[in-house]
Amino acid sequence: MSKMKKGVRLDHISKIYQDPKTGKDFYAVKDTSLTIEPGSFVTLLGPSGCGKTTTLRMIAGFESPDEGEIYLGDEAINALTPNKRDTAMVFQSYALLPHYNVFDNVAYGLKLRKVPKDEIQKRVMRILDLVELTGMEGRMTNQLSGGQQQRVALARALVIEPSVLLFDEPLSNLDAKLRVSMRTEIRRIQQEVGITAIYVTHDQSEAMALSDNIIIMNKGVVAQMGSPQDIYYHPNSEFVADFIGEANFLKGVLDKMDGDHALLKIEGHSSRVPAKAGMTPGTYTVVLRPESAVLANQGGLPCEVTLSCFMGSYQNYHVKVGNTLVKLTDYNPKNKRIYQVGEKCCLAFDPESVHIL
Ligand code: ATP
Repeated sequence: MSKMKKGVRLDHISKIYQDPKTGKDFYAVKDTSLTIEPGSFVTLLGPSGCGKTTTLRMIAGFESPDEGEIYLGDEAINALTPNKRDTAMVFQSYALLPHYNVFDNVAYGLKLRKVPKDEIQKRVMRILDLVELTGMEGRMTNQLSGGQQQRVALARALVIEPSVLLFDEPLSNLDAKLRVSMRTEIRRIQQEVGITAIYVTHDQSEAMALSDNIIIMNKGVVAQMGSPQDIYYHPNSEFVADFIGEANFLKGVLDKMDGDHALLKIEGHSSRVPAKAGMTPGTYTVVLRPESAVLANQGGLPCEVTLSCFMGSYQNYHVKVGNTLVKLTDYNPKNKRIYQVGEKCCLAFDPESVHIL
């Protein structure tokens, strides 16, 4: 594909729906502005009802925003119908044509666009090669596995050479193993073609594995946008920290600020930790990931073990630090000291791995 890559920009976008129960209007998406770089893979992630699909459907043109403007590259596209936009959507339900074979399903969009027959032949075969379905072109779609049907859906979207590919939970109908292999395929194909991709999911591991950037939504607004590492290690709120991975929240007092570090005191134990510019002494919420701490005989926060569970590749612990329950995962527990329920010990953490909200 030799087209210029295009990014997407939402400029103060809102969508208002009417609640069918109460009859009252509400914002499904509220005053959302964001920029998706050309050629990047971006995932919209968030709890059910947070506005992910509505946002995607507005970009596709299936819904129109009540406020704001959507840009594809430099072009404002609010007024364009879906087929006039330079986008293509891959649906959860595949939405294949049941009485057509694989070739005709993929060729359909090109026929609508009146592309010459010999060019259709070339483009369809090239895309089927890309999604690894060469040799399947004569099969009816009901003779395909779920994974193969999803590849046909992907091929059908890619063959029209859109600038932006939109995915609405495309893997939710597949079993767990196939989801993992298909997501690797989707990432490979997106990178090979160099297309901009916007992907809706509520599966955080899918979002992590696929994305250059993740947009976390909550109640119709963007809670945070950043790389998977950014979001995981530097969440900007308890909501984001809790939504991505597991998080423990501890109360700590920050003191003795110097430059980018400060003294953090939790349950009488002090450590020097990284602090954000502009933080002042006071009480803060501290995010501790379960894999960022271990149990030790001494040195750390005094705690008591309330759960100790062998999980094969890791030992799962719950400990009480004061009145706060902390969850821990100690990887590769073979040949390590295993702490039992009721034991009093210490929770030791790497001070660089805590995050202060
Ligand atoms: P899910 O993960 O469950 O698919 P989502 O984040 O994609 O959720 P949306 O489908 O964007 O959420 O819906 C956002 C809100 O708007 C929800 O409260 C939903 O019930 C509501 N909603 C969606 N479509 C309509 C509609 N056509 N009319 C009224 N309300 C709607």
